[in-house]
Amino acid sequence: MNNKTEITIIGAGLAGLTAAIHLLKQGFSVTIIEKNSFPKHKVCGEFISNEIWDYWLTLGLNITSLQPTKIDKTLLSTTDGKSIESSLLLGGFGISRYKLDYYLYQKTLELGGNIIKANVNKVTFSNDIFTLRTEENRLYLSKIVLGSFGKRSNLDLKMHREFIQKKSPWLAVKAHYDLELPDDIVMLHNFDGGYCGVSKIENNKVNICYLVQYSSFKKYKDIIDFQKKVMMKNPHLNSVFKEGKMLFEKPLTISQISFEDKPKIENHMIMIGDAAGMIHPLCGNGMAIAVHSAKIASELATKYLHNKITRTQFENQYVATWNKTFKSRIQFGSILSKILLNNSLSKLVMKSLIFFPFLLPFIIKKTHGKPV
Ligand SMILES: Cc1cc2nc3c(=O)[nH]c(=O)nc-3n(C[C@H](O)[C@H](O)[C@H](O)COP(=O)(O)OP(=O)(O)OC[C@H]3O[C@@H](n4cnc5c(N)ncnc54)[C@H](O)[C@@H]3O)c2cc1C
Repeated sequence: MNNKTEITIIGAGLAGLTAAIHLLKQGFSVTIIEKNSFPKHKVCGEFISNEIWDYWLTLGLNITSLQPTKIDKTLLSTTDGKSIESSLLLGGFGISRYKLDYYLYQKTLELGGNIIKANVNKVTFSNDIFTLRTEENRLYLSKIVLGSFGKRSNLDLKMHREFIQKKSPWLAVKAHYDLELPDDIVMLHNFDGGYCGVSKIENNKVNICYLVQYSSFKKYKDIIDFQKKVMMKNPHLNSVFKEGKMLFEKPLTISQISFEDKPKIENHMIMIGDAAGMIHPLCGNGMAIAVHSAKIASELATKYLHNKITRTQFENQYVATWNKTFKSRIQFGSILSKILLNNSLSKLVMKSLIFFPFLLPFIIKKTHGKPV
């Protein structure tokens, strides 16, 4: 056996790194196993809701030092460019995952976290201890394992998780651009088969990230062809792509993005972040939910390791709190995405919003939580 630790976290994304920082601050020994190197770009809209700002502050994380843009407005547009603007009650900020994840990674190391670069391919549980095996056949023992390996991982296949057996119609594309845009707004532009988020991040760069159904995308030659023939029919996206200069050699793409329900516990492993469930990106708070779920899991892990609750109570309380905090938001996000993807329905909703603008903040509130 190579290593024994109190908590092992699989995956150093936002959920895993936040949990690591939280638990290290409580004085526990924490190992994180991450298959990729840092820093690294990730497919993401890069708008973060302020819900988790205060929580990160309590962990000693100074996001201001990364110079994020402050965002407090949103604009929605239909496929034909009709739009409505609203203020965002809680607001948020724009920061690249390249910079944000790397910052959390460095903080974890500063606090004494043991970060190992490896791909975990098996996790077993017996006699109240987890054994993790990596691709290189190294073994790690741990009292608690947090599964924070994101929306889709080799481990999902290994664990025969139900969602991974089904094909998902979604793929996503993202790149940074040089483009004139106000700092304080996150835009969500609709197009046939998907939606596209446009907002500023640090250093005056703009992040453009869209989610599209494969059935709509596959009729076209490539990304550029699709953008020209489908997305640019929306006049807002027409000017975005005409005026913007891409700063990546080529856009990043991912496919098979699933929004299916997932178990929150797998063989006593506590699932956090996207590994526990994912909200439609149009709601702009997947990252806040990932971080918040890390907080819930870390608080319960602390109680468990201090012998205040049993393992069964730990697991049951985690599932109950997760469902109470996130389930209805995720369901509402799924309904919204269906409306947005139906041309006539989305036009009807947009017309109603233009007549009754107070409805938009109401809708936003339904998918967002209170400050954590
Ligand atoms: C198109 C799109 C746009 C989005 N836009 C937004 C947005 O604007 N705002 C917002 O709040 N949210 C957005 N989200 C959601 C947000 O990106 C996720 O909710 C967030 O990244 C979840 O963090 P996580 O830590 O759970 O997973 P991740 O950040 O994906 O981290 C998982 C980590 O696990 C590692 N890993 C996986 N398997 C293994 C293994 N076997 N061994 C070791 N390591 C492993 C991976 O390498 C990865 O680093 C968007 C999502 C998509 C798909």
